[in-house]
Amino acid sequence: MGAQGQRLAVIGAGVAGCALVARLRQLGWPGPITLWEIGRGPGGRTASRRSRHDADLRFDHGAPLLNLAVAEPPLLLDSLLAAGALAPFEDPVALLQGETQQLLAGCHDPLVQGRLLIAPDGMDRLCAAMLQMADEGVTARFGQLVRHLQPRPQGGWLLQDADGALLGEADWLVVSSTLPAHPRSRLVLGWDEAPLRRAAAALGDARLNHALERIAAIRTEPRSNLLVVCDAAAAAAWAALPFRLLEFDAAARQRFGLSRLRILPLGDGRCTLVAHSSTVFATEHLSVYGSRSAVALLQTLPPREVEEAEVIQRLAAMVCDALEPWLTPAMVASLRRSDNRQLMRWGAAFPLPPGLPPDLMLCGLSRLAFCGDYVSGPGFGRVEGAWRSAERLAAELIDAAGVRGA
Ligand SMILES: Cc1cc2nc3c(=O)[nH]c(=O)nc-3n(C[C@H](O)[C@H](O)[C@H](O)COP(=O)(O)OP(=O)(O)OC[C@H]3O[C@@H](n4cnc5c(N)ncnc54)[C@H](O)[C@@H]3O)c2cc1C
Repeated sequence: MGAQGQRLAVIGAGVAGCALVARLRQLGWPGPITLWEIGRGPGGRTASRRSRHDADLRFDHGAPLLNLAVAEPPLLLDSLLAAGALAPFEDPVALLQGETQQLLAGCHDPLVQGRLLIAPDGMDRLCAAMLQMADEGVTARFGQLVRHLQPRPQGGWLLQDADGALLGEADWLVVSSTLPAHPRSRLVLGWDEAPLRRAAAALGDARLNHALERIAAIRTEPRSNLLVVCDAAAAAAWAALPFRLLEFDAAARQRFGLSRLRILPLGDGRCTLVAHSSTVFATEHLSVYGSRSAVALLQTLPPREVEEAEVIQRLAAMVCDALEPWLTPAMVASLRRSDNRQLMRWGAAFPLPPGLPPDLMLCGLSRLAFCGDYVSGPGFGRVEGAWRSAERLAAELIDAAGVRGA
């Protein structure tokens, strides 16, 4: 097989994986690309939770927006804006000061610096739009966990499921999540060892070993998020607040146990609220997954209804405390109802620096590469970093694989 037919497998359909395949197609990667993703659709941490029974319902329960803090725009940006997949985020942002419990208009948090953007139809639609840009050149395999990775003797990779059954074969592999390489997969998924670490032992590639060491050292901040749907009467009161995105300063995080609150009006007059916990709160409640989270479904964990209800109850009480000066009875009622609330626990919401040095993204000898928000550089730990790392890797892969770029 010539260089032009080389098959690429990409693990992860978050921003990094989706931006990578979109950019590779723009650059003219000629071979087949397969994208593997545990989730039911694209999005990763730019996720939206929807309901089969309620077409209007939507929670953007991961990143509620994205920001471009570096002046030079990512290369895919114009096409995404032109397609309406991204639009300026124009909702009012405020900061809650913990010491005084007062609101300040605007905020200097790194997550709201620079150019603010939103995917108007749901944050998950950003990744979907990136995949559309790659067109039929990509086969997406959703709902599929890649459990084992075996290097082939002649180079390239075999991908296997939990039973060892072959999922696919590829000449190049890109891993856009730390999970297949990080010891936390033992905790999260109960694996005996992260698949890439086992594979690396057989490869003896010093560069890959170095990259894996750096990835293994990356620590992350968790979040426990409360998801609430409010009926039209309560939604009108929530909409009257002087913000749609509320950031908590350090004192407010400590005092109320929350880091931010997003109010999202729905098309039918209702709204959804997503309250993001502080790191400290999420760390204390790390073992309580939302029963609808991918990890709980994957591990078929026994339901922990009592603990989950307690965490939900505490988060709702924390929102009541933090917003006490502004709450109306309808708003309090919407927070106290137990049939409209869910929990989403993000075990690794934000990577902490230092991340993977960009010069270790590509391990040519092993035909393996990394991208994602955990690669250090502009936008580290945010959507911007995931996106930029993918665009950079696309150009490097075209060179390394020796394929003809457009
Ligand atoms: C609550 C929360 C709030 C946030 N707020 C902001 C914000 O305001 N602004 C901002 O810029 N960023 C924010 N972020 C961070 C932002 O969401 C991430 O930086 C970005 O989405 C990361 O994209 P990624 O593609 O690197 O990783 P991910 O989105 O994590 O994608 C990796 C994908 O790989 C999949 N995967 C992993 N292992 C396997 C496997 N073995 N087999 C198959 N699939 C696999 C995962 O399911 C996942 O979908 C927030 C994150 C969270 C959780």
